[in-house]
Amino acid sequence: MSDNDFIILDEEEKKDQKDDGVQKEESRGLTASEHEKKEDNENEYEKICFICHRPESVTGRMIDLPNNITVCPDCMQRSFDAMTSGSVDLNRLMNMPGVQFVNMSDLENMQPKQQKIKKKKEKPKEFHQLDVKNIPAPHKIKARLDEYVVGQEYAKKAMSVAVYNHYKRVATDTMDDIEIEKSNMLMIGPTGCGKTYLVKTLARLLDVPLAITDATSLTEAGYIGDDIESVVSKLLAAADNDVERAEQGIIFIDEIDKIAKKHNTNQRDVSGESVQQGMLKLLEGSEVEVPVGANSKNAMVPLTTVNTKNILFICGGAFPDLEDIIKERLQKKTSMGFNAELKDKLDHDKDLLSKVTVEDLRKFGMIPEFLGRLPIIFTLKGLDKDMLVKILKEPKNAILKQYQKLLALDEVRLDFDDDALEAIAEKAMEKDTGARALRAIIEEFMLDIMYEIPKDDSIGEVTITRAYIEGTGGPVIRLRGQAVPRLG
Ligand code: ADP
Repeated sequence: MSDNDFIILDEEEKKDQKDDGVQKEESRGLTASEHEKKEDNENEYEKICFICHRPESVTGRMIDLPNNITVCPDCMQRSFDAMTSGSVDLNRLMNMPGVQFVNMSDLENMQPKQQKIKKKKEKPKEFHQLDVKNIPAPHKIKARLDEYVVGQEYAKKAMSVAVYNHYKRVATDTMDDIEIEKSNMLMIGPTGCGKTYLVKTLARLLDVPLAITDATSLTEAGYIGDDIESVVSKLLAAADNDVERAEQGIIFIDEIDKIAKKHNTNQRDVSGESVQQGMLKLLEGSEVEVPVGANSKNAMVPLTTVNTKNILFICGGAFPDLEDIIKERLQKKTSMGFNAELKDKLDHDKDLLSKVTVEDLRKFGMIPEFLGRLPIIFTLKGLDKDMLVKILKEPKNAILKQYQKLLALDEVRLDFDDDALEAIAEKAMEKDTGARALRAIIEEFMLDIMYEIPKDDSIGEVTITRAYIEGTGGPVIRLRGQAVPRLG
């Protein structure tokens, strides 16, 4: 019973008042819940050192001195050392002009400015993460990817298995006769089909650091551009300079098709074949010296060594013209000479890219040693209209859901006609940049809605129509408590 609590508290208060003259003022009149609040408040603050001003979370447990003064163990030790080392002649020091000694009794009367600072709060995590050390089965990883990535079933499956095997290999770390091969991956798919998005989602799910880099910016060491090892330095930065975390991270190298071997060139190929050569060791696993907290070795920064043995490398690219190479191979294999029927069939084969072989990639200009270090090769499909519509509304953080949430905060309901979603998808298809076009299109026509709606408190519901997307009409607006359609 809370009444009893109060009685007991009052009793205790009286005792306290007798014991301590200062404390009694503070605790008088505080109810049990106020006591709790006070304690909570105190937990939100941490002590700082009177001398070096570092917080307790950095220095370790503070030593409490009289008058609410706290000193960290380092400063305390240093003070003792200075006193006991004998290197300071106190007599001489005292007679020096300008030298004053602090009287400890003065210190007692001095109130420290502020001896506590607010603790940093842990950021709430948006994702329910998977545990790398206790890696879940592939179907569980895929199920989590399904929540965010639409379609691309094969890619999600291949990736889940590869990641599962990779982290199992990391966890066992056996180097006996049966060495598990590294599961570095190569993803092939048109622009905007979700390659980067898949990798980003995966890294967030697994809570491992991720570095994304563009192969076109990489050059062989010594040439203008980022040298190849700079990707490891990016990963280290993503891991907050924690080498151990970085060594279990993921590096995504986009536009890998841009470093294909150039055909018919006499010039030194500094951004193509030699970059592939330069990456071999990294992909396989080697010790790399990287600067801490900067991406240039020239700066005066300390270096540290990162082993890339357990870093998962994922390369991605659109590989334009690869389909022609596949087509050529398939035609050659099945018929000698010209076969019009087969040619027609291949021309209309939407899944042609998925028939890719290592041989085709070699023909494209990737060197065999490089491909040998990317054992998992899979393709992603270009997005069709239905998939684009799904991307708009289905993923956990779908763009429509985001707008709906924003307007819901103004207590306005936002709906999209199915027809309107199709119109958006059709517009995006024209741009030929996959799902990337969706956001730009939506932002364009949502601007007016987001500007106009908050002006009028009486609006309760907005429905986006195909006519509004196509610029031939307005959204349907309903006022609160009424069902009066009005064209805007
Ligand atoms: P790329 O294949 O060129 O790397 P991205 O992964 O960067 O393309 O895709 C661009 C954006 O499109 C992503 O940020 C994501 O929001 C969206 N997107 C692309 N594909 C999908 C997909 N399959 N499911 C959900 N969203 C997707």
